[in-house]
This record gives sequence, C-alpha cells and structure tokens, in this order.
Amino acid sequence: MRLTVIGCAGSYPGPDSPASCYLLESDGSRIVLDMGNGSLGALQAVTDIYDIDAVVLSHLHVDHFIDLTSYYVALKYRPGGHPTRRVPVWGPAATSQRLVAAYGLTGSDMSGELDVREITEDFQVGPFRITTRRVPHPIEARAIRVAAGGATLTYSGDTGPHPELADFARGSDVALFEASFLSRDDNPRDLHLTAAEAAAAATQAGADRVVLTHLVPWNSRADTLAEARAVRSDAELAHPGLVVDL
Ligand SMILES: [Zn+2]
Ligand SMILES: [Zn+2]
Repeated sequence: MRLTVIGCAGSYPGPDSPASCYLLESDGSRIVLDMGNGSLGALQAVTDIYDIDAVVLSHLHVDHFIDLTSYYVALKYRPGGHPTRRVPVWGPAATSQRLVAAYGLTGSDMSGELDVREITEDFQVGPFRITTRRVPHPIEARAIRVAAGGATLTYSGDTGPHPELADFARGSDVALFEASFLSRDDNPRDLHLTAAEAAAAATQAGADRVVLTHLVPWNSRADTLAEARAVRSDAELAHPGLVVDL
C-alpha cells in the first residue's frame, strides 16, 4: 500500500498545502481519504481523478469534504458524455444533502456522478479493508483504519483526545494522526489533539511510523515537531507530496 499526502493543512488551506486529503493505492486500486478545500487541484498532479475507486470521508467539516462539489463538476461536465461509473463516496448520513446544499443545486442531486453511501464500521473497497470508529469531535467524525496488501494505516481524522484511539490503531504500520494543537495553548476540549497527545497515542498503539497531520497554519511546523519529538523521537510531519510505502 502506498500513501501520498495530497493536503495536510488543518482546518483551512495553508499557504503551502490544501486541506485534508490522502491518496491510498494498492494493487492497482486507489481510494481517497477526505477531500478538503484545494485538494482536487493537487490530486490531479499525482493521479487520474477519473480512476479513483472510492472516496471515504472522516466527517463533514468543510476542510474534509468540500472539494467533492468540484469533483462532481469534473465528473459531470467532462466532454465525451456522462460518466458511466458513479464514484462511491462513503460518508456520514447527511453527506448527500450537505453536498447539494453546498453546491446550491435545486431540483437535482449528485446521484448521477457520486454514489453516496452511509459509512459503516466495516466495509471493503477492492483490496482495501476499511474499519471506522467514532471519535470525539463537534459533529459525527470517524477515525479510519485501512488494511491492504499486508499493511495497515490508521488515520485519526479530526479527534479530541480519546482513550480508544490507540487501541483502534493497534499495530498499524503508519499512524496518520492529527496534531492541530500545541500543549502551551489554552485549547478547546473534545476538538483536536495536541502534537504531544498525537505522538503519545501513536506510540501507545505500537505504530511503526508516526506521521502527524492536520497542521493548522497558525502554528509553526517547528514547534509542532519539537513537541511531538519530545514524546516520540522519530515522529514526523506530513507535507504535500509525501509518499510512504507501507
Ligand atoms: Zn479538520
Ligand atoms: Zn473537523
């Protein structure tokens, strides 16, 4: 399995990264985890967006799903006719309505282009075995564990501190955990992890490699990395274009 980081900016796009989006490839199949603001452009630089097997959404905050409205346009209006294959999108129950409202569609929906399905705890897309688990966040949000080709990656999505996250990610080759906050700040509860909390949870999970993401533009990467490395010396930060072969 190969991970390519498309966007790793937290909460809104940064000057050098789109918001959340990750491409996973295995055995000729490809799925996308989240499609936040600005990610569809960067995604085109690394893959054919007409050859994506599914999109899986951690939750319906704009920085994780809004570029699906643009993906709908790319699917619907490409010259050469209407797409014959609807792209599966796994997301929370309200995903269809949110997409329609965000785009401003009236009298129609996106069901001709996107096959939106309510996300469950366990499903399969080609070679990808996908398991999800609810995590604390102001709206329904899930961590996503993906296994394929003998490798496992766990993406935290957006989450406040959660005692079950390490257990859910147990034995992952890669823990792709959000590290939005710094411990020095007076952070809101049940919203995001600090760099120290993310590194600690990934270590507790026994993950071989810790890649911290959802890096909010108002924090410096150096401060985030320093806080994480005080807990786990080999923690690293995501950046657009980062490729990890698992
Ligand atoms: Zn977010
Ligand atoms: Zn969020």
